[in-house]
Parts: sequence; structure tokens; C-alpha cells
Amino acid sequence: MSNRAGRDPHLVVVGASLAGLRAAESARRSGFGGAITLVGAEEHLPYDRPPLSKEFLTSDDPSPTVLREGAVLRDDLAIGLRLGTRATGLDASGRVVATDDGDIPFTSLVIATGATPRNLPGGDQLRGVHVLRTIDDARAIRAAIDAGARTVVVGAGFIGSEIAASARTRGCEVTVVEALPTPLARPVGETMGRVLASIHERHGTTLKVGIGVDGFEGEATVRAVRLADGTSIDAELVVVGIGVAPNTGWLTDSGLQIGDGVECDDKLCTGVYGIYAAGDVARWHNPTFNARMRLEHWTIAAEQGGLAGRNAADPAGATPFETVPYFWSDWYGNRIQFVGIAAGADEVVTVLGDVEGDSFITLYRQGERLIGALALEQRSQIMKYRAMLSTGASWEDAMAFAKDRAAKLAAKAAAADTG
Ligand code: FAD
Ligand code: NAP
Repeated sequence: MSNRAGRDPHLVVVGASLAGLRAAESARRSGFGGAITLVGAEEHLPYDRPPLSKEFLTSDDPSPTVLREGAVLRDDLAIGLRLGTRATGLDASGRVVATDDGDIPFTSLVIATGATPRNLPGGDQLRGVHVLRTIDDARAIRAAIDAGARTVVVGAGFIGSEIAASARTRGCEVTVVEALPTPLARPVGETMGRVLASIHERHGTTLKVGIGVDGFEGEATVRAVRLADGTSIDAELVVVGIGVAPNTGWLTDSGLQIGDGVECDDKLCTGVYGIYAAGDVARWHNPTFNARMRLEHWTIAAEQGGLAGRNAADPAGATPFETVPYFWSDWYGNRIQFVGIAAGADEVVTVLGDVEGDSFITLYRQGERLIGALALEQRSQIMKYRAMLSTGASWEDAMAFAKDRAAKLAAKAAAADTG
């Protein structure tokens, strides 16, 4: 059966990582009977990125976590793989993706090309200076940590904090340099960022906040990182974690609306029939918060990929993507989790545990509404707040819920003590 483009149905997914994989799989599982092709610039089968800054650096067995074996994709799901193939352009009206290995016509398309790390000037010309996005980046960083490198991390965001924790756990001397006043200042706010800073300090990582990096010292190999105050820090390993830029370069002449990512509506549609975007590259209207967002977290990329694949398989029946932002981050064996948003909070209140200890939950209020929740080592609790946020819970209801949970947990602990 051919469709409105006069071709046999062919879903092309560009970007063979988390969001792209989920898109291809969900399209097939939703009953799409046409051809599906997954196109990826990397040579590797889709693999998981979160372990690259965590277990991959700390465990005895540094092997990548492959998300799906090639045989499952090809034989069980009839998904064609074009790995090591880079999309170079898109003719949206002619419905063709140009690649460095020829043109691929499509009837529907999912764009899932993710993001690329920013670097500092000169960073890509010196041995010992790395960014972290791919398995190849992680292998190089692991080798330096194995050698006990003095490590300087630029940026105390997610990459910076996780690399610092992993390198420190392996016994390296570690300094983190961050321009903002605290780690994760934007994702969790400065008040709770200060609390998270203390986790680094407790583990012997040196934090230098509120200061920029001027450049690197060294000829072919990095010797030190020079700070804006004129001082420098000796290093054999430098990891630059100063954020990412969405991979939209190949779409420049496509006519799609590109801003901070591929601009989409609430159904993740780009505005061109049958063309969707998902994951780190997509900016869409999130009905749950009535705001446009581009999120850079695993759970969202997986959820968006799944929905974009189903919508691309059946554009007439497309449904909106509504979500409560969620991320986790692991530092020194502690799990940090956040649901909702922190920006614009009027107040933060810790409702369980102790921010000076190793376990707590803190809620974020804006006006009369709950807008976010941060947890340290409270894995069984945090998703309850994600559910509350999805229904637009009031602050009063959230506080009453938290009080009730705290009372029940205290009663359970007392019973365990006496029993
Ligand atoms: P990506 O994973 O970036 O994949 C995009 C793919 O598209 C890449 O394989 C790329 O090569 C390919 N591509 C790009 N351009 C082209 C092109 N022109 N043609 C063909 N292919 C192309 N999130 C959390 O919530 N918790 C965590 O603990 C966590 N840890 C992380 C640790 C690390 C080290 C990193 C890097 C990220 C981490 N994340 C974490 C974020 C999470 O991994 C990302 O949100 C997720 O990978 C996004 O998936 P994606 O498929 O949208 O993009
Ligand atoms: P990030 O989380 O955006 O953090 C970058 C940090 O570096 C920010 O605090 C940023 O401050 C700061 N910064 C920017 N320019 C700087 C400079 N010149 N000098 C010093 N500090 C500077 O990005 P990231 O840590 O690089 O992570 C890259 C990507 O991987 C992101 O998409 C992230 O979500 C993802 N990731 C996620 C996880 C997780 O969710 N657990 C783990 C690892 C990676 P400003 O905000 O002022 O720019």
C-alpha cells in the first residue's frame, strides 16, 4: 500500500541512540508494517550513555551497555540499520534524507540526532583535554583515570559532577571549576546546589566556584588549566563539561524551524506532515507545564522517542507528549533525583531527612503550586511526587502528603526498633 507521498511506507529514523532506537521499536510494535531504517553516524550499535560517566569509569569491567543487539533489530523487528552513516541534509517536501552514503527516501521521519558537547578554545588541540559524549571519549578518560591522572573538570553540571565523583572514587586528585556559585545551579537552584556541593567536599574533591577558565597550559599535551584570576591548576586529565549544542547543522536548509533545537508542537511534530523530532534535539510545547522545553535527560529521550515513533507511524492518530521532567545523577554511590522544575521557585522546604546528612527530600514551591522535588537516596519516594506534579498538585496537598509519609516512615522505623 502506498501513502500520500505515492511511495511504499518507509519510516526513516536519523540518530541511532536512545530516542532513535525507541522511535524505531515503538513504530514497529504499534503495528507499522512498512520498512523502517535506523541511520546513525556512530559505527556502534545503540548503547547507553549514563554509565559512561559512572560505572564505565569505576568498575573493573569497562564494557559499553548495548541497548539492543543487531540481530534483534534486524530479525525480530525488521529494522534496517545504516550505522556509520551521517545525514547531511533534508529535503522535507521531496521527502529525502541526504547522507554521506547516498540519499534515503522516506514517507515519515523521526529526527533524533541528540547533541554535541561544547569545548573551550584550544581544548580540541591538546592531548589530555576531553569532552564526554561517546564510548570513544569514555575509553580515553578511563585510560587517564587508570593512570591516576590529576584531574581538573571544567563545569560542575552533570558531566563535571559525575566525572569528579568517578575519578575521586578511583583515588585521583580532583578539582572542579565552575563559573556559577554552585554545582547544578540551574537544574536544582542555588540553595540546593550548595547542599550538593557539600557532597563533593565530603569526598575530598576540591570545588572552585564563581570563577571562569582562561585557557590551558602545555604544548602538545595539557599541563595545567589557567583560571581567570591568573592562578593555574596542574592536570594530566581535563574534562570539559560546559553543556551541549543540539545537532541541527544537517537541517539548516531543510525549511524546518530550528532554534534551540528542532522546534515542535505538542505532538513532537515539526510542522511538516509526518516529520517528528525526539530526545535531546527536540524542543516542544509541554502541556503539563504550558511551556516550551528542550530537555537533556535519559527518561525524557526514551519517552519522547517512543511517542514520536508511534506518531510517525500514524500521523492522523498522533497524540501529545506530556511529561514531568525527571533526571537522576549518581555521585560517590549516592543517587540524586529531581522531578519537575527548579527555576522560578519561591521557596524550598525539606520534608524528609536532613540536608546535612545522606538522605532527604526537598520540595519546591511557586505560589500555591508544587513545581519540583529533589531527593538524595530516597528512591522509593520521588516518583510519588512526579505523579503529583503530573496532576498539577497544590503546595498544600504536597505538604500534607509529605507529612503523612514522614509520620508513616517514622512509625515503621520505631516498630522496627522495638521489634
Ligand atoms: P544522543 O544519545 O545524543 O544520540 C544521538 C545520536 O545521533 C548519536 O549517536 C549521534 O552520533 C547521532 N547523530 C548525530 N548527528 C547525526 C547525523 N547527522 N546523522 C546520523 N546520526 C547522527 N541522563 C539522565 O537522565 N541521567 C543520567 O545519569 C545521564 N547520564 C549521562 C551520562 C553521559 C556521559 C551522557 C553523555 C549523558 C547522560 N545523560 C543522562 C543524558 C542522556 O544520555 C541523554 O539525554 C540521551 O542520550 C539523549 O538521547 P538522544 O537519543 O536524544 O541523543
Ligand atoms: P550541563 O549540565 O549543562 O552543565 C554545564 C555546566 O558548566 C553549567 O553549570 C554551566 O553553567 C557550566 N559552564 C558553562 N560554561 C562554562 C565555562 N566556560 N567555565 C566553567 N563552567 C561553565 O552540561 P554537561 O554537564 O556538560 O552535560 C552535558 C550533557 O550530558 C547534558 O545534556 C546533560 O544533561 C547530559 N548529562 C546528564 C547527566 C544526568 O542527567 N545525570 C549526566 C551526565 C550528562 P551555565 O549554566 O552558566 O552555562
